[in-house]
Amino acid sequence: MAIRKIVTVGDAILEKTCRPVTDFNDRLFILLDDMRDTLSAAHGAGLAGPQVGVLRRVALVMIEDESYLEIINPEIISKEGEQEGLEGCLSVPGQYGTVVRPQKVTVRYQDRQGREHQREAEGFTARAFCHEIDHLDGHLYTELALDMMTEEELEAGEAK
Ligand code: ZN
Repeated sequence: MAIRKIVTVGDAILEKTCRPVTDFNDRLFILLDDMRDTLSAAHGAGLAGPQVGVLRRVALVMIEDESYLEIINPEIISKEGEQEGLEGCLSVPGQYGTVVRPQKVTVRYQDRQGREHQREAEGFTARAFCHEIDHLDGHLYTELALDMMTEEELEAGEAK
């Protein structure tokens, strides 16, 4: 297990479309283990393949019990409602933005053994799934953000 370097905004790798995972092998397990270590160390809510320089459709998302769920070849198969909320990204350090996302999503994905799953998520978790899956298509939340602010601006706003 190892902590990998997180790619930050400006690097073209974040704008590329990832290829599906086809081999559920040791190499994938090492990648997922490393991504988990990297994400825990950074105290993030999610991490996608391209953020550690790997153009494959893999991501980790923080779910309701605050554990990280591994999602491989994920797909949003239904969306419902709308929510507006603050988002940040480990690849866009020190910045936050308001993004409108679906209130509820249903995601289909595979686990590290290649088994298929389907899962519903609401609120913050639905937001996290959308954010990570966007990464796999080369999109950052900054493209959707209604506004952007720094950590200092965010704290100043909350103090009011
Ligand atoms: Zn992100």
